[in-house]
Amino acid sequence: MGFLGFIKGFSSVYRAKPRIRAYPSFCQHGHCYIQCRTFSHFKDHDDSVLPVLIVGAGPVGLVLSILLTKLGIKCSVLEKGKSFSHHPQAHFINNRSMEVFHKLDGLAEEIQRSQPPVDLWRKFVYCTSLTGPVLGSVDHMQPQDFEKVVSPVCVAHFSQYKLIRLLLKKLEDLNFLICKPEGLNDEPFRGGELLMGHECVKINATGQSVNVTASHLKEGKYTERNISCNILVGTDGAASTIRKLAGIELRGEKDLQKLVSVHFLSRDLGQYLLNERPGMLFFIFNTEAIGVLVAHDLKQGEFVLQMPFYPPQQSLDDFSPETCKQLILKLVGQELSDIDVIDIKPWVMHAEVAEKFVSCDNRIILAGDAAHRFPPAGGFGMNTGIQDAHNLAWKIAAFVKGIAPSSILHTYETERRPIAIFNTALSVQNFRAAMAVPATLGLDPTIANSVHQTITDGIGSILPSGLQRAVLDGIFTIGRAQLSEFLLNEKNLLGSSRLAKLRRLFEEGKSLQLQFPAEDLGFRYLEGALIPDSDSVRAQVPPTGRRRDYIPSSDPGSRLPHMNVRMLSNSFSEACISTLDLLPGDKVEFLLFIAPLEKVLPSCRCCPEGG
Ligand SMILES: Cc1cc2nc3c(=O)[nH]c(=O)nc-3n(C[C@H](O)[C@H](O)[C@H](O)COP(=O)(O)OP(=O)(O)OC[C@H]3O[C@@H](n4cnc5c(N)ncnc54)[C@H](O)[C@@H]3O)c2cc1C
Repeated sequence: MGFLGFIKGFSSVYRAKPRIRAYPSFCQHGHCYIQCRTFSHFKDHDDSVLPVLIVGAGPVGLVLSILLTKLGIKCSVLEKGKSFSHHPQAHFINNRSMEVFHKLDGLAEEIQRSQPPVDLWRKFVYCTSLTGPVLGSVDHMQPQDFEKVVSPVCVAHFSQYKLIRLLLKKLEDLNFLICKPEGLNDEPFRGGELLMGHECVKINATGQSVNVTASHLKEGKYTERNISCNILVGTDGAASTIRKLAGIELRGEKDLQKLVSVHFLSRDLGQYLLNERPGMLFFIFNTEAIGVLVAHDLKQGEFVLQMPFYPPQQSLDDFSPETCKQLILKLVGQELSDIDVIDIKPWVMHAEVAEKFVSCDNRIILAGDAAHRFPPAGGFGMNTGIQDAHNLAWKIAAFVKGIAPSSILHTYETERRPIAIFNTALSVQNFRAAMAVPATLGLDPTIANSVHQTITDGIGSILPSGLQRAVLDGIFTIGRAQLSEFLLNEKNLLGSSRLAKLRRLFEEGKSLQLQFPAEDLGFRYLEGALIPDSDSVRAQVPPTGRRRDYIPSSDPGSRLPHMNVRMLSNSFSEACISTLDLLPGDKVEFLLFIAPLEKVLPSCRCCPEGG
């Protein structure tokens, strides 16, 4: 962004009377001189008031707590769970999130070392059973993905619960205490505690602070504990209590699809797929069952099966471990003796964004799924949340340290909410691209959903519930008959035309894609903590969801492009670092790029904390 523009931008958003002082640490080579203002926020400094309290220790809350701690900001985290879930859930980490992790003391590199080899997850496979005919497969990696031209790190495939473990380890390395409820006394929190088994149940925002009530089980009884903080961040997931207590509404589409997620282990299946048809996602369509299998780790034989779920005609009791085992076998297409069902969870797909990310005079802030919930198609949920945390951390630090006024916090909403809306649209579009495959096979999911709605809310609702269920099952069985070998083959006119259409869909890249470099690295804030360069403001193009190359840009609000640079102080060494490594992760500092005098470049650019 234009450097002077940035400074000008701040002066136009705050209203407080600043003290002005010269800040010489930016002027090491005599190239520049800037003025920095300090603000006093907390009139009566009170040790019993925590600067930042984070509610929810999912990936987003944990990343935020690490970033804040590294920036020297005291924060504590409340987590209602007594332990962390082992349900793998998210697994695709995009390029920008890996760049954020690269700055967390080599977390990206740790993930890269621990994840399965890329050849085991680069493909999506479409088949009628895991051991039966393959309808098509799509490779989602291209040679340039390994060349590290646009980024110092690559995308990764790593289960959410394993990521949580690494994030907890990072927090412990930063001297964070992970406390069980029974191990706590009644002393006020000093920052640096993650309190397990503490559910936030009430909040009360006053002029200077937010009082939070957390409920926890002590000696068999629910007990309440009050915590005061200056800033409360709700990273408490899709059903966010903080969002509800702050009275913030969600906008968008609810209930796009209901699913059941079955977490299971089978080393035999893992070994078979590893040898015969390795992949990350397996879309399986046959006359007996339909499902998407996510191979979290083929070597360990760890999988999650996603299956459509139609309540109230179906209930969770219809998905007992034994029934799930039978359904898995129908999708595998042969006997397996070692299936171990670990967990069965229903979930609902929404496409919604909170109307506000920041409220109560910038004291209550939402991030991650608390602020936006998308279909997982394209893997934008956790990734968008991690990038929310990255955007928010330096702004909280700038405010708490008195470098910026509280209005800096509002720029988090100005910058991140449009990205959330954009990624919601992209996820819905990806979800539709995923549905194009069953639709081509004659199994249009929108028809299944309208049949279900007619039975639930329309004419079918007059039927007794048992009959509704029988009608639904009957219609779905007839639908799945389209997948019979008798119909779906090259000799059958309809079957061969469907198979040809499917091949075209894969060849033209119109099925679900894994990578979205244009959106992942090419996102841009058009307003917020920056002054737009009037020449370069272009309307954000609507999401296409199709793979396009990322075009590096230094326009205001863009991510700082990656380039390899060699430090002059290191002129004897050939070792290069990324431009992204020039940005410190433990200070609120700005980086000034100045064009070399002999090469005439248009202007100098600066970037806060990597964009
Ligand atoms: C099947 C599936 C696959 C997915 N795949 C991907 C993927 O590949 N890539 C991707 O980016 N995303 C993916 N996602 C989305 C991703 O899982 C979520 O976006 C991510 O978990 C959001 O993280 P979070 O920290 O915001 O919330 P959560 O992970 O939901 O964490 C919230 C935490 O807050 C705690 N909490 C809730 N209420 C309270 C309270 N009142 N007090 C205290 N604690 C509370 C909860 O116990 C929880 O630990 C997927 C989702 C699903 C369902």
